[in-house]
Amino acid sequence: MNYHHAFHAGNHADVLKHIVQLALLDAFKRKDSPFFVLDTHGGAGRYLLTSEESRKTLEAENGVMRLMAQPKLPAVVERYLKAVQADNPVGALVNYPGSPLLTAQTLREQDRMAVCELQDAEAATLKALFAHDSRVAVLQADGYTQNKALLPPKANGAKIGRGLVLIDPPYEAQDAEYQRILASIEEILGRWAQASFAIWFPIKQRRTVLHFLRKACALPVKSVLTVELLVRPDDSPLRLNGSGMLLLNPPWQFDQILAPAMPVLKQHLGEAGASTRLQWLKQAE
Ligand code: SAM
Repeated sequence: MNYHHAFHAGNHADVLKHIVQLALLDAFKRKDSPFFVLDTHGGAGRYLLTSEESRKTLEAENGVMRLMAQPKLPAVVERYLKAVQADNPVGALVNYPGSPLLTAQTLREQDRMAVCELQDAEAATLKALFAHDSRVAVLQADGYTQNKALLPPKANGAKIGRGLVLIDPPYEAQDAEYQRILASIEEILGRWAQASFAIWFPIKQRRTVLHFLRKACALPVKSVLTVELLVRPDDSPLRLNGSGMLLLNPPWQFDQILAPAMPVLKQHLGEAGASTRLQWLKQAE
């Protein structure tokens, strides 16, 4: 595998993904009952923005750093920026927390997370990060194949009903990745029917993701919402022009929580021709 998230940490795609992730977790926290998070593609958990990888691409400069420079932003964006700031010294931005660290920051005593990561270095960093957090299990394993071992989720022998599966693969082979995602979701739903899902997807040319979105709507889920940010027109198959989060069984009226973020992300992270989309593809009756 050639993919290393250190080159991309804090870019526009991470900003969108992590705003949505935290808003979903906050929605789960409105009830006291425990929830479970399965992060199938965890990455390293924390990234140094002064690293050679980060300085080579400058992607964080055009992502999270642009938002940090703004004086006032909608609550759902401020909440994300506070979570990033919480992993940094006061007034500085040197670390970027990845999805497992953002989840761990948000979990309560009764909640649990399992995070999978295939690569040695990333998995070792994750294990060190969570060595003393008994709520978090780190598995160096293929995140698509751990369903049998992990689901339905339990804590202290009791089943956990609610929760989120976050699927954030590298898409080195896009069509094969879509197929693995869809097969994995079907398997998970067979073991844990109440699960919600957040699946990140890249957008180079938007028409190429439509087939995947149609297939996702045919899954046995009650509702499907997509949230997309294109930072420039999707006219080149070679660049990451934007990305989306496909949400299956999100909380009721979750679009209203995200809506205020959309114009702000377009304004601060977009170039000419940027656009956003927040659309129910399937809605519970
Ligand atoms: N979710 C992370 C975040 O938001 O901070 C970033 C994850 S990064 C996009 C994708 C990660 O998945 C890489 O670290 C890669 O090594 C790992 N990976 C690739 N295929 C995998 C698989 N089948 N199972 C688990 N991890 C995998």
